[in-house]
Amino acid sequence: MSSSTPSANTKKLTPDSLVQYLKGVGPKRAEALESFDVETVEDLLYFFPRRYLDRSTIVPINKLKVDQEATVVGKVMAKGVRKGRRRSYFELVVEDKTGMLKCRWFRGVRWIKNVFKTGEPIAVSGKVAFFNGLSMNHPDYDKLGKGEEDPVNTGKIIPLYPGSEKLKRVGLDSRRFRKIYNRVLPKLDGVIPEYLPENIRSEYRLAQIEQALKGIHAPDGQASLDKAKKRLKFEELFFIQLMLALRKYHYKKAPEGISYDEIGPLCESLYRILPFELTDAQKEAMREIRADMKSKNVMNRLLQGDVGSGKTVVAMLAASIAVGNGYQVAFMAPTEILAEQHYRTVQSYFRKLKVPVALLTGSLKGKDRKSILTGLKHGDIPIVVGTHALIQEGVAFDALGLAIIDEQHRFGVLQRGELNKKGDNIDVLVMTATPIPRTMSLTVYGDLDVSTIDELPADRQKIITKKVPVNKLDSVYRFIKDELDKDRQCYVVYPLIEESEKTDLQAATQGYEYLQQVFSDYEVALLHGRMNADEKEEIMRRFEANEIQMLVSTTVIEVGIDVPNATIMLIENAERFGLTQLHQLRGRVGRGAHKSYCILVQRNKGSNNETAEQRLSIMVETTDGFRIADEDLKIRGPGEMFGTKQSGFPDLKIADFINDKDLLYLARNAAFDLVKKDPTLESDDYSNLKSHFVTHYKEQWKLSHIS
Ligand code: ADP
Ligand code: MG
Repeated sequence: MSSSTPSANTKKLTPDSLVQYLKGVGPKRAEALESFDVETVEDLLYFFPRRYLDRSTIVPINKLKVDQEATVVGKVMAKGVRKGRRRSYFELVVEDKTGMLKCRWFRGVRWIKNVFKTGEPIAVSGKVAFFNGLSMNHPDYDKLGKGEEDPVNTGKIIPLYPGSEKLKRVGLDSRRFRKIYNRVLPKLDGVIPEYLPENIRSEYRLAQIEQALKGIHAPDGQASLDKAKKRLKFEELFFIQLMLALRKYHYKKAPEGISYDEIGPLCESLYRILPFELTDAQKEAMREIRADMKSKNVMNRLLQGDVGSGKTVVAMLAASIAVGNGYQVAFMAPTEILAEQHYRTVQSYFRKLKVPVALLTGSLKGKDRKSILTGLKHGDIPIVVGTHALIQEGVAFDALGLAIIDEQHRFGVLQRGELNKKGDNIDVLVMTATPIPRTMSLTVYGDLDVSTIDELPADRQKIITKKVPVNKLDSVYRFIKDELDKDRQCYVVYPLIEESEKTDLQAATQGYEYLQQVFSDYEVALLHGRMNADEKEEIMRRFEANEIQMLVSTTVIEVGIDVPNATIMLIENAERFGLTQLHQLRGRVGRGAHKSYCILVQRNKGSNNETAEQRLSIMVETTDGFRIADEDLKIRGPGEMFGTKQSGFPDLKIADFINDKDLLYLARNAAFDLVKKDPTLESDDYSNLKSHFVTHYKEQWKLSHIS
């Protein structure tokens, strides 16, 4: 505390100081920064560079290759507006010691032509082309300051900040950011108190926080940058894991869960009427679930497995244990259609055992709804399948014992808690259909115990997947007819176009009309999300009974549908689907003993469709859900894969799930160890940690149980 003697005219920097009053910022720039959620000095310190210029990232001009994404550092040698064939463009000639590169702007010429000065050092990044010499169109650019001109030879590492038009227009380019940080960083000395506990920092060799902030914004070499990154990535992952560890602890210490003494005759009866033997993986999952249900601890288990691996059966066996012991079961799905599909499945199992099952969705109104609510409240309905409607107010159970949640990635961490409130310390079984990379399951489901069903039933045949261009469709149709003549069935799926249900429906409707003509000898039907429940049910029933041979549909059949006799999945405009979705759709076939096919029809081989091309190739290559999940993660990134906002999936600022696996495991260990030692973070050693955690993560994680 000795350093806090205030000198007469330097105000001490505090984390809450507004950036507006920093030298070099001011009201205009402060306003632009607000759009990046940067308002205080603390925000600014945690606003990290997007990347760095250094020896390893800069390419000498004479080593550039066409089509490569590259960064070049040099000086502006010449510039000017030139006449093109159609319109004028701005050209900037950049030179380094090895050659010349022409950068061209075809848009925003009036503005860009005044941005550069001849002779000034800059960095440009973009895709290399060759047109009248090596060139880049509309590259990203960053001006360099004094002493930054030659990172290759000086070994300097230059941070580049997220840039936007808005920031650049008020003069907040990376160079300005660096200047601002260079003024702020030297003042860091107890401004941000260390919040990671000493023992964790020393065990995992983590830099002190202010050192790390200095290192990330003004690294004085690769080693200092690496240390800074390690510390900041670690803490980002650590706080997520800390949240999960606290939550898990909280579940486990819950006063007392339900203990089902016996498996019960109902489960035994269900087991006996199954038309197949469980796979070893299913049996193992059952053993784990059984142990949870028997113990006094509350069950919080994730049941993970590829499509068709037989999760639903396992969930139904768990349900039968609860019902057999006099408790109720709620089975929640993310959409109405899914809930309806699950309802049909669940009913088909329990009808034979004379156990009533009800369906409760948002569209159920009036008397029907009321009678279900009464039945649940009085305990007359042992099993209810539904949507979010199940967790709404007004839904009460007599004795809810088990909640089964089919997530399909659509609920996530936050909503899961709501069902718990409908009973006393109920058991929860979460099912997810798509295997997800382990790093991600440790994050989304890191507070759950996990059972994985990692084998498919033995009778399964490998699904043959083919990419087909539109002009080969005739032979595809002939092939489908052959299959239908063998008494098999077929799905045809149309994509969701720009999330507009209308056009979505149009594509499917037109396709349906056309296919009706092509397949006039067969029964073709259309299924879409806007039909009412009865209509949908009727069509599904007829498809299940093979009264319909070809089911044309929008993406509604993505999950859950189960007709083992269907052997062909034809996906129209397959390039528009994400990998996970394609994999889900393919999982609708190959569910029985017959050989099955997945046909991916590619309509737009557009130029900027590289990732689409990649997705389809992966589909052809493999049917392994884990491999597909990994590839999907690489292509899309976790945010998109999980729809950050709705899934409660954290936005990572600096760490990532692909490259920082090892750090994730370490951070997880550290967090779980800590909670084991001090579950309420009571010790004085943790007071900074606790207050940082609460102020920065409370909102995000609804940390109601730590004060
Ligand atoms: P998931 O929910 O994992 O996608 P399901 O439980 O819906 O899988 O099972 C897919 C299909 O496989 C269903 O038709 C189901 O009856 C059948 N099935 C489940 N387990 C087995 C098994 N052990 N042997 C043979 N068929 C099985
Ligand atoms: Mg299923």
